[in-house]
Amino acid sequence: MLSSKDYRHLYQITAKFTPLAGDCGLLCGKTCCRPGKNNELGMYLFPGEEVMFTRQEDWLLWEEQDPAEQFFPASWPNPVFFIRCTGQCPREARPLACRFFPVTPHLQLNGELLMIYETLDLPYRCPLITQSIPLHQGFISTVEEAWKIMLKDHRIYELVVEDSRYREENNLPVQVVLG
Ligand code: SF4
Ligand code: SF4
Repeated sequence: MLSSKDYRHLYQITAKFTPLAGDCGLLCGKTCCRPGKNNELGMYLFPGEEVMFTRQEDWLLWEEQDPAEQFFPASWPNPVFFIRCTGQCPREARPLACRFFPVTPHLQLNGELLMIYETLDLPYRCPLITQSIPLHQGFISTVEEAWKIMLKDHRIYELVVEDSRYREENNLPVQVVLG
């Protein structure tokens, strides 16, 4: 299972690169950082990632949720943490979900790991996904390196396997990110 040391390492290796060499927020007005009309948008932390926060951050709201109700694998600890931000974070503190977007892992049946454009049903349009814009190669490599570490945690591995089979069963696009 990932330790606090692993999470510190993951935060360190993902600190530098962004999806494009420039600011992709200029393409869309930073739509993925908007909290939503009713401040309902947010992201889940991975198991143990909460060690990277003090829970006193004034830019974050915390919610504890039941992993079974949110369809996480049975191995996930209870509670899972759903966090919502104000739309302004100290960049070095942003959670892993933000660091990876819009790339997500897909595990083929033969075990091959692919980095693909996110297929989640989002309440906004990310032009990097909708236009399959090629991403910064350093960003793609870093996200892949991070996922290779994360997949050693069986709970995260199970999530990625379940998401991958769900994509295939529902004919969602498995499109490898362009570099
Ligand atoms: S929605 Fe996509 S293009 Fe816009 S800021 Fe987020 S990642 Fe960048
Ligand atoms: S934590 Fe930061 S990067 Fe993530 S959605 Fe909020 S403002 Fe954007």
